Amino acid sequence: MSAWIYCDDLLHTNPTDDIMDKPYPSWVCAECAHEARGRFSQLNTSTMHEGTCGVCGQAKTVTEPRDYGYPDFTRVYTRLANEARSSQHGQSKAADERAGTAPQ
Ligand SMILES: [Zn+2]
Repeated sequence: MSAWIYCDDLLHTNPTDDIMDKPYPSWVCAECAHEARGRFSQLNTSTMHEGTCGVCGQAKTVTEPRDYGYPDFTRVYTRLANEARSSQHGQSKAADERAGTAPQ
């Protein structure tokens, strides 16, 4: 399908290059940390405060990634990048949402 070759997204460098360049976040929200770890972990909430998550960029209750054992956030960055690309193409977003319900 030649149409996709001329899509702006594909003319830029692979988005994963940008992901790898991201600095390690100073603060992360529970959702991003849990996704990075692949499981839920109960924390001492006294270290948490309202702030901006360094991974998803949303204003949430955040804490130091140290509290989660410095997880690898690459998979979260990858998902967010994929979602951002999907939102730029209205047609593919619905397909991604359907795919999101499939078992892993
Ligand atoms: Zn987050």
